Amino acid sequence: MNDRSSLLTHLECAKCHHIVDAFSLVNLCPVCAKPLLARYDLKKAAAAIDHRNLSDRPQSVWRFPELLPVRNPLCRMYLGEGGTPLIPATQLGASVGHEHLFIKEEGLNPTGSFKARGLGVAVSCALERGAKALSIPSAGNAAGAMSAYAARAGLKAHVFMPKDVPESFVVECQVLGAEVTLVDGLINDAGKAAANHPDAANRFDVSTLKEPYRIEGKKTMGYEIAEQFNWELPDVLIYPTGGGTGLIGMWKAFDEMEEMGWISTKRPRMVSVQASGCAPIVRAFQSGLGEAKLWENASTDAGGLRVPGAIGDFLILDALYQSHGTALTVEDHEMKEGARRMGLAEGVFVSPEGAATFVAFEKLFQSGWILPEETVVLFNTGSGHKYYNLWAD
Ligand SMILES: *Cc1c(COP(=O)(O)O)cnc(C)c1O
Repeated sequence: MNDRSSLLTHLECAKCHHIVDAFSLVNLCPVCAKPLLARYDLKKAAAAIDHRNLSDRPQSVWRFPELLPVRNPLCRMYLGEGGTPLIPATQLGASVGHEHLFIKEEGLNPTGSFKARGLGVAVSCALERGAKALSIPSAGNAAGAMSAYAARAGLKAHVFMPKDVPESFVVECQVLGAEVTLVDGLINDAGKAAANHPDAANRFDVSTLKEPYRIEGKKTMGYEIAEQFNWELPDVLIYPTGGGTGLIGMWKAFDEMEEMGWISTKRPRMVSVQASGCAPIVRAFQSGLGEAKLWENASTDAGGLRVPGAIGDFLILDALYQSHGTALTVEDHEMKEGARRMGLAEGVFVSPEGAATFVAFEKLFQSGWILPEETVVLFNTGSGHKYYNLWAD
């Protein structure tokens, strides 16, 4: 029996490289208030894991516990997260004249979105490090995922969501036992409400990239993509970007895999898709900036993309520039049409965020930025089920 314990060594600030003790329960860098990232003993990991022989490991987020920050196996909260299929989108691709299109189907995760990956790991970490209660500001899917894992871990869950969030998201959190506060404003206002709550000091805040653990769950998408393509990464990844955890996480996974010798130096071009009503990353990318300014009056039906300011902006932009990727916007009505085309062609009921990746793909293919022989992966980050009001009209 292998001893598959965590090889986490420390946490490191993504900006000033300050080092923090591996198993402390922390939010941001205590020196510069930027995100902290988990670092592992990758030499040991390379020696301990035979990436060509993984048949005795689970198909889940917990496939490589050596490369995740939870030491105690009893603290690894499992509800079925990860191990999602890579679906060849042959008919969808053919409808635009492209033959190498795939959908990473994240809508199959617990609570219907890839937020389950990040929050499964973050809640597990919080439990292991002694938290008793958690809080989260969310546009919807993160709140549901946090509520589910908090319930499983026996922790109190407090969620803060914009008051115009679709009712299905509120109901989900309530049935999972969370205390729900609806806030007048957007997700950043919900974040302030969570931080200013009188009990905030007794609750560990699991906001996107304001703690180092969610990204570790999301990075597992990068490991899965590599394995699903037999350790040779595809040419282009198209990702619907809100806070950017998935994109930053996958880029981190590629760094780790390259260092362990699992993949070559070949990387996909990373594409950020945002809604035309909330596109801070696209605007910064088009101006060649290293950081993004807050987007005023953000508005889009794709809740996961309604993030006017991302604390990990510089990490998203770094990955886009380094990978020779790009960033572009799509309209809400294009997402709705895209969802219907994806549904009809492939039988996948996608979220508007997931549909945005197909709309972006079509634009990039028609403009010649994506070539016919290039392999492309679209991330359907969530299921369409919780967005009923959107599909009605
Ligand atoms: C949260 C969310 C996103 C954006 O993810 P980030 O990691 O914050 O960029 C995209 N799609 C869906 C369905 C989401 O719930």
